[in-house]
Formats: sequence, C-alpha cells, structure tokens
Amino acid sequence: MRAPEKISLVIPAYNEEENLPVLVHRLMAVMEPYRNYEILIIDDGSTDQTQFVLSQLSQAYPVVRYLSFSRNFGHQMALRAGYEHARGECVISLDADLQHPPELIPTLIAKWREGYDVIYTVRRPDPNLSWFKRKTSKGFYSLLRAASDLELEDGAADFRLLDRKVIDALKQFKENDLFLRGTISWMGFRQCRVLYEPAARYAGRTKYSVGKMLRLATMGITSFTTRPLYLSVLLGFAMSLFACLFGMEVLYEKYFTNATVSGWTSIILLMVLIGGIQFIVIGIIGVYLGKTFMEVKQRPPYIIAHTSDIEETVVAGW
Ligand code: UDP
Ligand code: MG
Repeated sequence: MRAPEKISLVIPAYNEEENLPVLVHRLMAVMEPYRNYEILIIDDGSTDQTQFVLSQLSQAYPVVRYLSFSRNFGHQMALRAGYEHARGECVISLDADLQHPPELIPTLIAKWREGYDVIYTVRRPDPNLSWFKRKTSKGFYSLLRAASDLELEDGAADFRLLDRKVIDALKQFKENDLFLRGTISWMGFRQCRVLYEPAARYAGRTKYSVGKMLRLATMGITSFTTRPLYLSVLLGFAMSLFACLFGMEVLYEKYFTNATVSGWTSIILLMVLIGGIQFIVIGIIGVYLGKTFMEVKQRPPYIIAHTSDIEETVVAGW
C-alpha cells in the first residue's frame, strides 16, 4: 500500500495561549484517519505564553511544529511563512481561535482528492460577528471589487486548502506586501468554493485591531490595482472643466450684466476645494510611492527567531 500523502495544517497565532491546546486536540481528533499530517503553528511574535505552550505541545506531540517570529509581523506574513515551511502535498490554513471549524477539514480534503487545486471557503453571514466587523468586511470587499478586477466574494477568509503546485507557484512571488486572498484568486488553477458556518472565537479577543484591518484593506487595494492613480487625472479634468465654466460665467456677468462679480467667498471656496483635492491626490500618489520604496529595499518579509525544527534556527523569509 502506498503511504498516504502528507497534509499540512498551517495556523498563524498571535497571543493565543488559551486557544492553542484546545485547537491542537480538536485537530488531532479530526486528522486521526489521515495518519500522515503535520500541524505547523506560526507564533507571530506573541507576548503571552504562546511560545511556551508551543514548545510543550511540540514536545508532547511529534506532529506539532512551530516557527516563532522575532516580533509581530502580522497575520499575512505568518501565513506566508507557514506556506513556505509546510512540507505537505496539500496545505490547509486556518485561524487559531477555532472560528474556522476543524470539522470542515475532511470536506476540504475530499474536494482536493476530487482534483481541485484551490479550495477556498466563504463564511455564511455570522450572527456572532459584531455589527462593525460585518459592515467593514462587506465594505472592504465591495471596494476591492470596484477598484480592481478581482472577484473576491464577501466573507472570503484565510481558511483554505492549497495543493503543492499552488504553494510552489506562490513562493515565486517576491513582493513584500503579498495580499494572499487576492493573489490566490488571481493565480487561477482549478478552484472550488465551500461554505461554512463560523463559530464564535473560543478564547481571548480579536487580534485584528482597526489599524491592522485598515492596513490590510490598503494593502489589498494597492497590491492589485493602480486605478486610484488615474483618479487624479480624472479629478484634474473635472476641476479644469469646472474652472472653465465658472470663468465663462464670470466674464458674462462682467460684460453683459450690471451685477458686480462677488469675489472673496467664491475665491476662498475654490481654493479650499482645490487644495483638498490636491491633498487627496498627492496622498494617493504618496501611498504608491511609499509602497515602491518598501519593495525596492527587498527586505525579508519576516524573521524567524526560534523553531521546533532542529536544523533551522534562524531563517529569514523567502
Ligand atoms: N493573527 C496573527 N497576527 C496578528 C493578528 C492576528 O497571526 O497580528 C492571527 C490570530 O492569532 C488568528 C488569526 O490571525 O489566528 C485571525 O485573527 P483574529 O481571530 O484576531 O481576527 P478576526 O477573526 O477577529 O478577524
Ligand atoms: Mg478570529
């Protein structure tokens, strides 16, 4: 009999000391029939006992491996490091907080065995989610769809299965700001979608602060489209047209009517309007320029300080 293919589970974790033991036990129960698998946890620079919990878990169970970042590099970087270091024929990524039900994993693997390369999940509308998270998530996906040509669905999450060939293709992306959800949708391959019912976060609070959500949204949009830059050209045209019409109106008033042209108010209004638009446009250009600057430096996207693997001690990202 052929040995079963190795399956990797990749889990980014930032301050998840309470969730990890529960998660690992539930995963082990689900993965029992598959025999050949590994659980790779990426500690994203946690400041609680996560690292200690991980070293305990990896000593107790040989299927558990971990990488520890030297500081908090963010969820996307942790996922990326997981994809880079996973050894399986297919890689399943999920959150550490049990919001992505481990019980869905057999469905994902069954789809993979049917021949799909990317099996992504979309969460059903979630009653546990706060009003704020629901609205911001929906707004983000609509904006991203409008700004770029990506067809990401509302509620697309980083809970997915990727075949080895997709992982190898992903490793060829050298950009620092890699927006995985968009990149994977963009890459093609045989894709398949699975719906799931999200659970409530098991323990702790969300690790996605508003700042981190904003950063993810900006990164998603600026990695996939330069359309906002064209906005400045459009605005420039619109403003010039407005100025021409306004100028004609002023000339008409001066030469063909008795009314005196009112000066002060309209000038100040126009100055504020034009100034505001200029700031927005320069800001947009600045964001892209800053991004170019960050990419040109070619820094490693993340730095690993410890791992459970003896042969790798300090490894920088790909
Ligand atoms: N996470 C991470 N680094 C961060 C923030 C979050 O690795 O800087 C991990 C976190 O531990 C969890 C996953 O990313 O496994 C999703 O985060 P969270 O559940 O806090 O986000 P939410 O579900 O609230 O959007
Ligand atoms: Mg969560």
